[in-house]
Amino acid sequence: MNPNFLQTPIAYLKGVGPNRADTLKSELGIETYRDLLHLFPNRYLDRTSYYKINQLQPSGADVQIVGKIIHLKTVEQKRGKRLVASFVDETGQMELVWFRSHKWIRENLKLNEPYVVFGRVSKYGSTFSMPHPEMELLRNHEQGLKIAMQPIYPSTEKLSAKGITNRVVSKMVQQLILESKGNFPEPLSRPILEELKLIPKAEALFNIHFPKNQELLAKAQFRLKFEELFFVQLQLISKKILRKQKIKGMPFGEVGEHFTEFFENHLPFDLTNAQKRVIKEIRNDLGSNAQMNRLLQGDVGSGKTIVALMCMLLAIDNGFQACLMAPTEILATQHYNGLKELLQPMDLKIALLTGSTKKSERTLLHNQLENGNLNILVGTHALLEDKVQFKNLGLAIVDEQHRFGVAQRSKLWHKNNTPPHILVMTATPIPRTLAMSLYGDLDISVIDELPPGRKPIKTVHRFDGNRLKVFRFIKDEIAKGRQIYIVYPLIQESEAMDYKDLMDGYESIVRDFPQPEYQISIVHGKMKPADKDYEMERFLKGETHIMIATTVIEVGVNVPNASVMIIESAERFGLSQLHQLRGRVGRGAEQSFCILMTGNKLSEDAKTRLQTMVGTNDGFEIAEVDLKLRGPGDLMGTQQSGMLNLKIADIVKDNQILKIARYHAIQLLKNDPRLEKEENAPILRAYSKMIANKTIWNYIS
Ligand code: ADP
Ligand code: MG
Repeated sequence: MNPNFLQTPIAYLKGVGPNRADTLKSELGIETYRDLLHLFPNRYLDRTSYYKINQLQPSGADVQIVGKIIHLKTVEQKRGKRLVASFVDETGQMELVWFRSHKWIRENLKLNEPYVVFGRVSKYGSTFSMPHPEMELLRNHEQGLKIAMQPIYPSTEKLSAKGITNRVVSKMVQQLILESKGNFPEPLSRPILEELKLIPKAEALFNIHFPKNQELLAKAQFRLKFEELFFVQLQLISKKILRKQKIKGMPFGEVGEHFTEFFENHLPFDLTNAQKRVIKEIRNDLGSNAQMNRLLQGDVGSGKTIVALMCMLLAIDNGFQACLMAPTEILATQHYNGLKELLQPMDLKIALLTGSTKKSERTLLHNQLENGNLNILVGTHALLEDKVQFKNLGLAIVDEQHRFGVAQRSKLWHKNNTPPHILVMTATPIPRTLAMSLYGDLDISVIDELPPGRKPIKTVHRFDGNRLKVFRFIKDEIAKGRQIYIVYPLIQESEAMDYKDLMDGYESIVRDFPQPEYQISIVHGKMKPADKDYEMERFLKGETHIMIATTVIEVGVNVPNASVMIIESAERFGLSQLHQLRGRVGRGAEQSFCILMTGNKLSEDAKTRLQTMVGTNDGFEIAEVDLKLRGPGDLMGTQQSGMLNLKIADIVKDNQILKIARYHAIQLLKNDPRLEKEENAPILRAYSKMIANKTIWNYIS
């Protein structure tokens, strides 16, 4: 076969042509033979079994029946005519019905000849009926290419409107497979094929489109999913190995005076065991010769900040600078203030850089960074600007990483000649399965323990109708000296509406919580940063009782005295967002509450989300449910969904296969790191081609 066969533009395939090619491209992103071959059916109609009429169930399923038409009649109705055929087999009688194309059908149908009919049955009175069945004479059916199970391909309205029906797509794929003569190169090695009893590539491709039976379909699916996940894992793992071998990190051999002094004299609390363990893991990395690239997962409130600080001290003790990057100005400022306070008794220089840092200050900062007078720089993505140059950046910490794109993370690599050690902290727990796929090239540490003395947050769901009761509750809590968050959704598509909701909400709160008894802050994205800071500051100092906000306060903000989180229109939030928001309370010693307010109309998914929130405080458990409800793409935010360009495997459902694929990728690289063995030649060939064609997702550039 021509080695570039699969690269052929789809327009050249018999039965496609330029017009259909355009539609295929715009609707399904299909440009080449390869794309079409990898357009996998969503589902299959099982045409391997035949039903008898007396076995039919009013289930609405598609079934296949062999029988004869014994009678045809046209029935007049108010809304037009319909054609009704009496269809019988040896067990009974049913009806086939057409509402259109009567003439053509009447002229072409043969009475008293065995047909195979296929379609959805429903029951009217005591009679089963099948509207617009697919029909084929039994003898043709038996002769023709036996497509035992019919593939159902992804489709769009526009595709059907342009005549590219499921049947047409299926024909195209058939044509493609015919032209290929089944010559699909095998990208897996013999030992792997044998060990896992995988069917050959060509057979898998044929059976994924036109399965001969359920068993072969299952084998085809397994084989193709395995292959897809195997190559992704191969890429991730080889990147990790390469990084560890090639990129010399800056060894932080010393545990020096700052670290020790802080640990012995200034730690405000005892570290939890999880914090200790994680610091040890990080120290091991930093002390080795390799560059650290580590993901630190820890639920909201688990105390990641202190871990970050201690790592920064390690960097400083070894003569390096450190930086901490946060996704919002509020958060960066809060980190800066918190760290400054912790470091106060020590002789270290720390500064803040955000979008609103004044020019004069900025110039000063740049100088101090470059001549090494500054030890720690905290900031927003303003840190990533090229103008920001360090004398010797040794450690870069990224907080709440799901807000940053991968590209931004990789920018940090280039801040130095030698890439700094990188610690990515996230409070959105990522299920292990997903972490393995998304961050397979990172090492992972987990803080799986909350600081002692925390009372679990009590979460309830209340309908809008109970608002007065909720208000009374708020007043009681304020009387006890507590502070309250009230959060409104802000979704981009309906921004104007959402702002209206927020402002209406604000006004109604102001009415129900009159000054001067109650002081209220409001913070949202349209405010000037200085105003936002001012309001945040007031709330932080306890000068206001209620903080009304959009999700800008979602991440990181720490006000231990705030004990109630009210989430308005909670049904509109995703699970991980709800969990993040809830994490703003429960930070002090008092009992905290989270109240999810909703209207009465709730979708099934929304109910599941609310129930999950009420049922558990465990971020990992919530992340698992979230993943199931939304799929990995959404979970990570649209920014990163493109990274998981999987055609057939589903990292949630195919978790088991993922593990097998990962295991085999690891084994392979262990036994043959450069894929030099003869038996691994097919893998090397396929892998190189994927990298060259960028068909495998490009992780960190
Ligand atoms: P997150 O992991 O969400 O960033 P933080 O680092 O903001 O959590 O910590 C949350 C709160 O818990 C802070 O007020 C912090 O001072 C406190 N904290 C952190 N570690 C401990 C600990 N070991 N013992 C007691 N309090 C702690
Ligand atoms: Mg934090």
